[in-house]
Amino acid sequence: MKPILEVENLRVSFPAPRGRVEVVKGINFSLGAERLGIVGESGSGKSMTGRSILRLIQRPGRVTADRLQFEEVDILSASDRQMRAVRGARISMVMQDPKFSLNPVITIGDQIAEGLVAHRRLPRAQVKEKTLEMLRAVRIADPEKVVKLYPHQVSGGMGQRVMIAMMLIPEPTLLIADEPTSALDVSVQAQVLDIIDELIRRNNMGLILISHDLLLVSAYCDRILVMRNGEVVDECAARDLAASTHPYTRGLLAAMP
Ligand code: ADP
Ligand code: MG
Repeated sequence: MKPILEVENLRVSFPAPRGRVEVVKGINFSLGAERLGIVGESGSGKSMTGRSILRLIQRPGRVTADRLQFEEVDILSASDRQMRAVRGARISMVMQDPKFSLNPVITIGDQIAEGLVAHRRLPRAQVKEKTLEMLRAVRIADPEKVVKLYPHQVSGGMGQRVMIAMMLIPEPTLLIADEPTSALDVSVQAQVLDIIDELIRRNNMGLILISHDLLLVSAYCDRILVMRNGEVVDECAARDLAASTHPYTRGLLAAMP
């Protein structure tokens, strides 16, 4: 499988009273059109790993790597302009709370339509039908009604599904989902992940699913990295997770409700 993303010796550090403290300490992985899960307790460096791939760590944070290659783009040496293009179109990120990512003063329909005009260069006449189609793809049953609503008028699960529809407009090849369902009721978590899963497969994309929830990640990923204090301490196929003999992973599994 041709890699979409290659990560070698990725390190993220911040200034500390004495020198710098590393919060990601030299991690390695490579990803094709497959689903990689990153799990670990809060503060283990999962989000910093995800954000560094998009070069979203701001000064005084520092990111270094022997290799951080996304398709033909060398992330650490790319120009700001090139990175804006990568972030806007080729790698999409879904975060915990859609409220921070959707524009509160524009209707859902207009936001999607704007994205379609900008990224797909669709003629205006086709935008309306395509907007409804995008919403149907994330299993919104009554898109004609939803397009007229503002983000605050929909539930968290619906908001997250709208967010996923938005993220897919530019046809990215990699989706980074950082705790995408942590703010949602358990009853809608699986629904949102099922949609992500279906779209990833259909569009032949790579997925990095970041979550503190081991069971969730093992259900939706092919491979899993277990992080602790900035390091990958265990790595396995998702189906082997329950049988991991690593003591830290065993401890996390034992702590699951
Ligand atoms: P996770 O997503 O696994 O919960 P993070 O990647 O967000 O963890 O954070 C990893 C570590 O980096 C944490 O200990 C956090 O306190 C630290 N950290 C995050 N942002 C900053 C910052 N701006 N300055 C200093 N330390 C930070
Ligand atoms: Mg996090």
